[in-house]
Amino acid sequence: MDRRCFFVNSAIAGAAAATFAENGGDAYAVNGHPLRASDSEDSKDAIAAAPLFCAHEHWGSLDALGATSEGFRADMIAGAVPVRDASVWDIVLDPYFNGWLFAAGHDAHGQARTRGYDSVNDWWRAQPEQVLTFFETPLRQQHFTGAFQCIRQGISLLHGVDILEASLDVWEKADAAVKSAYNNLFPWYGRALTRMNVSEVIRPVHPEFFLDSEADAEAERAVMRPIMRVDPLLELWPAVCPRRDRLAEATDIEPRDAASWRAFITALFDLAEAKGNVGIKQLQAYTRSLDFVRRADAEVTFSGDLNDAEKRVFQDWVMHQCCSQAHERGWPHQIHTGTHNLAQSSPTPLAALAACYPRMNLVLLHCWPFLEEAAFMAKHTPNVYLDACWQTVLNPAFLEQSLSQWLGYMPSSKVMCSQDATSVEMAAGSAAITRELLSRTLTALGRAWRISPESARACAADILHNNAVAVYGVGTLYEPRGTML
Ligand SMILES: [Zn+2]
Repeated sequence: MDRRCFFVNSAIAGAAAATFAENGGDAYAVNGHPLRASDSEDSKDAIAAAPLFCAHEHWGSLDALGATSEGFRADMIAGAVPVRDASVWDIVLDPYFNGWLFAAGHDAHGQARTRGYDSVNDWWRAQPEQVLTFFETPLRQQHFTGAFQCIRQGISLLHGVDILEASLDVWEKADAAVKSAYNNLFPWYGRALTRMNVSEVIRPVHPEFFLDSEADAEAERAVMRPIMRVDPLLELWPAVCPRRDRLAEATDIEPRDAASWRAFITALFDLAEAKGNVGIKQLQAYTRSLDFVRRADAEVTFSGDLNDAEKRVFQDWVMHQCCSQAHERGWPHQIHTGTHNLAQSSPTPLAALAACYPRMNLVLLHCWPFLEEAAFMAKHTPNVYLDACWQTVLNPAFLEQSLSQWLGYMPSSKVMCSQDATSVEMAAGSAAITRELLSRTLTALGRAWRISPESARACAADILHNNAVAVYGVGTLYEPRGTML
C-alpha cells in the first residue's frame, strides 16, 4: 500500500483537503500522486524502528547495588554490581517512586522496621503476603502516575509480568525474573538494550568513578558511557575535606589557590577523558540558582570556614573553570532545570554561561515547568539543547505538552528524549511511553499541516537518536528507511 504523502503548499493543501473530503476522508491526490494523511500505524512502526539514544540515565541507583557516603555505589565505582540478590522491590521502591510514596503518607521501609525487618526487601522474603497487602492501596493510588506506569510497563516489557495485579503469584514471578537478570548485571543490560532498541546509554557518575573500578568495569564500558558530575567539586572548600584529599592524592595536585585549583580540575578532566568520559553534568539547580557569575581569582576564598557569600563565589569560580575545560574539550554540559527548587531552577540565567563557552553545548534536562523559557533559550542560542528526560516519569502529559509546544516553536534538531531512569526496567517503560507520545504528536501535527511521513520519520529519528549523536559525539547517525529528505 502506498502510504506516502508530500509536503504541500497551502493552495495545494486546500485542493487536497477538498479531494480528501470527497473521498470520505480516506485518501486524496496532489500533483498527480495518490496521497494519504500521515498514518498513525506508519508512524508507530517508524518510531519503533528508530534507535533510542538514552543520554541521561541513572541505572543502578538501587538499594541492591549498595551506597556510599557520597551516593549510590554504582556512581562511585566503575563496574559495580549488586551486593545482594536484587528484588522486584528494588525496582519498584527506587529513589523516585519510594520518595513519592512516602510523600503520599506511606513509609514503606518504616513499616518494615516496625515489624522488625531492616527493609521491605527483608520483610518480603519473610512475609510476602503481608507486604502485598500493605502495598495494595498505596500502589493503587499511583496507578495513573508516570512513575508507576514507567516501572510497571518496563517490568512487563522486559520480564513479561504485569505487576498491576496484586497477586502473590505475579509478584513472585517478577521477583524471580529480576533476581535472575541482576545476577549478571551488564549482560542483562545488553540484552535489554537490544529488546528496547536503545543505541547508546550515558550515565552520570562522580569523579571518583574514574579512580576506582571492579572486575566488571570492562563489561560496564561495553554497554554504557560515563558523564562526569562536577557538582561535587563545588563542595570541596572546607578546611577538613576527606573527599578533596582523596582526589588530590589521585591527581597528585593539592588545590589551594587559583593556579593549583586550575591544575587540579584539568587533571581530573584528563583522568575522566582517558576513561571514555563524554561530558559534564551538574545538579546545582536543586540547591541554588543557576546564575553562575564569572569571578576574578582575587575574589575567591579557596578553603576554610566559608560563609554563604564566600561559598557562592567559590562555586561560581569552580563552575566557570569546569565550563572552560568543557569548552576546550568540546564536551557537552548537562544541567538539571526545573522539577525542584522551583523558585531558583529556571534555566534563563544559563544564557550567560552558554554565551561564555560557545564550544560547550548546554543540554537543559527536564525543563518542566519552564517549558517555554527553555524553548526560548534553545531557539535563540546555538549551543543550547533540550532533553525532556524524566518528564514521562513525572507525568507523561508533560512530555506530550513539551513535544507539541517545542516542535511548533523551534527546530527539531534541538530536542532529545532520554529517560533519566534509575533502572533499565523504568527506562524500558519510559521509552515505550516516549515512543508512543512522539508518534501521537507527529501523527497529529503531520495531519494538521499535511507533512509527509518521510519528514515525520526523519524528525522522530533526530529526536530519538541523531540529535544526541551530534551533541555527544558518540554513536552513528541513523537514516530512517524510505526517507525522502
Ligand atoms: Zn538525572
